[in-house]
Amino acid sequence: MRFSSLFVSAAIALCLSSCAGKPQAEGSLKSSFAATMPDNPAAGAHDPIALSPAAWMRPRNPMGLAGRDIEVSSLKDIALANKEVVLSFDDGPVPGKTERILATLNEFGVKATFLMVGEMAQHYPNIAKKVVAEGHTIGSHTFSHPNLRNLTFDRALAEVAKGEKAVAKATDTDAMFFRFPYLSDNHNLRHMVSERGLVIMDVQVDSKDYFSDTPALVASRTIAALRHRGSGIILMHDIHKRTATMLPALLTQLKAEGYKVVHLVYKKPAHKPLLVASAS
Ligand SMILES: [Zn+2]
Repeated sequence: MRFSSLFVSAAIALCLSSCAGKPQAEGSLKSSFAATMPDNPAAGAHDPIALSPAAWMRPRNPMGLAGRDIEVSSLKDIALANKEVVLSFDDGPVPGKTERILATLNEFGVKATFLMVGEMAQHYPNIAKKVVAEGHTIGSHTFSHPNLRNLTFDRALAEVAKGEKAVAKATDTDAMFFRFPYLSDNHNLRHMVSERGLVIMDVQVDSKDYFSDTPALVASRTIAALRHRGSGIILMHDIHKRTATMLPALLTQLKAEGYKVVHLVYKKPAHKPLLVASAS
């Protein structure tokens, strides 16, 4: 593994990401972020300026944010009730940032799903193992983060398989969830991933933490999108400092608004898919 290619992939993930689209117009959302960032520089023109009504100036009170476990064997099992969210982090692991995120999740007593890039897990197996050891759910995100729709079907299949294998090897466990890089899929690709027994993780709330916004703006945008939807799988990336920085404020605000963070737990399907009968 060459460091250069690793950081090129991280940079690509940072700049392009999935999840293309323009930043949403910022509403009047109030964030508790300022309460946790005393050294925050003067607010920019687009920063949220008002403070959270619920969390401002209170000590963090992280208990009570954790919701139920949901056993998942296939996509249809991920059925969230109102005010339920899933936290998901793509593109890691990376030193420093992933560990900061783990520490915050631990402080709030909640579990997330980490969709690891195979190349990254292979390069940082100890961090990948730490994610598993702390009880989080893992999945893969291809080996080198290509847009699978730009590849031939066979190359796309090889990327998915290599990524899954690398994450499983790095973590010493099965990685049964999968997310498409750039959320770029089609019917054939989704079918191929499902046929491998992997559970596709779609996204309902995109934090857009890959834009070079302030942490406060990322937290505000995420909460605003979530209020609009009521529940959902939240997409974040554990390769960005701003994501690690804003996470305590996001979780504080989620709790203040009565959300629960649910934990997806993979469960082997009761019946194996039927194999094609062989004449021999
Ligand atoms: Zn990604």
